[in-house]
Amino acid sequence: MESIKEIYLDNAATTVVDTEAAKLAYDIMTRFYGNPSSSHAKGIEAEHLLKKARSRVLSCGGFDAKEANVIFTSCGTEASNSAIFSVYKSLFKRKKSIVISDSEHPSVENAARELEKSGVTVHRIPTKSGKLDLDFAQNVINCDTMLISCMAVNNETGAIYDIKALDTLRKTNAPDTFLHVDAVQAFAHLPYSISTLGADFISVSGHKIHSPKGTGALIVKKGINFNPYIFGGGQENNLRSGTENLPGICAFGLACEKAEKNKAQNLSKLSELNTFARKTLSEKCPFLLFNTTPNGFASHILSVSVPGIRSEIMLRFLSERGIFVSAGSACSSKNADNRVLSAFGLGNNVADCTLRISFSTNNTHEDISALADALCQGNKSLIHTIK
Ligand code: PLP
Repeated sequence: MESIKEIYLDNAATTVVDTEAAKLAYDIMTRFYGNPSSSHAKGIEAEHLLKKARSRVLSCGGFDAKEANVIFTSCGTEASNSAIFSVYKSLFKRKKSIVISDSEHPSVENAARELEKSGVTVHRIPTKSGKLDLDFAQNVINCDTMLISCMAVNNETGAIYDIKALDTLRKTNAPDTFLHVDAVQAFAHLPYSISTLGADFISVSGHKIHSPKGTGALIVKKGINFNPYIFGGGQENNLRSGTENLPGICAFGLACEKAEKNKAQNLSKLSELNTFARKTLSEKCPFLLFNTTPNGFASHILSVSVPGIRSEIMLRFLSERGIFVSAGSACSSKNADNRVLSAFGLGNNVADCTLRISFSTNNTHEDISALADALCQGNKSLIHTIK
């Protein structure tokens, strides 16, 4: 049987592991397998490797070791949860509200819902058309706010949120409020460094930048108090106990170093792919709706809708032809939830038919042309089955 070429256009969900990063992980597993907490030479060697990875993650965020610490976590979700619950633990006796956007990833939205159960008021800043409503933010950020938590790039639409404006608001309205940024989709994907956002806590995730799954980090600005919620042997400077995932962490470090080194080139390739996709898809598939514009949105994410064909049906059609995209976000696509796309301003009839196409630098024009052809075929053959 002839095998079909796989075309992977779901890089906001996860990315293929970089070959050198995978090789490094293998070397750590088979040669440098010491426990960084052990005092013998094998442990010291492992500790050096851990230190190197830490500084690579920091550099990729635009920080130097004097400005911030890295706490390695298992993923972006853990990083965000640990920041949110750390602040809650410090401040819940004095302050009673937090401010997030209305289109956070579930790792922040659902953590906020947990706080609501404990009596915390959660203000959600509207994000219509991918823009934070700063008048709303101005009205809700005050001395009762313990935390502002906002993503830098939205995972479903690619919208880039104005975090610097939130930082300015907190400095004027409530200087002792903490700022957490979920930078999972922004890390290594924006022309500026995430260090310029002014945040106290920043969550990043390895598997979105060609590192293995099971790797992430919370970057904490120096001088900011962090309350751990995993207790044990005192790893990560007593801030996140548990033996470190050294193979994953070192691979993550290398992926960060490569992302930082090739950033200009990578961003220009992603922007070129986005422009090519917009042009090709609009020429070949006139029925498609483009939900976003090139300005104000990260280039690696493109949100489109196929009117009349539910996302999961088109997704299956494409998948059977070896083309992988996502319906909305990967995390919510299994239990249809239009929370984020509705906040963006899409009606349910459009949101239900939305596909997220997301690129990595491994993608080619041929991938995009094949997607356009398959979408046309899908539109022709599926539209009749729907009505
Ligand atoms: N935040 C955003 C914006 C994401 O896109 C994701 C994953 O898709 C996460 C957080 C969760 O990251 P992880 O899969 O590493 O837990």
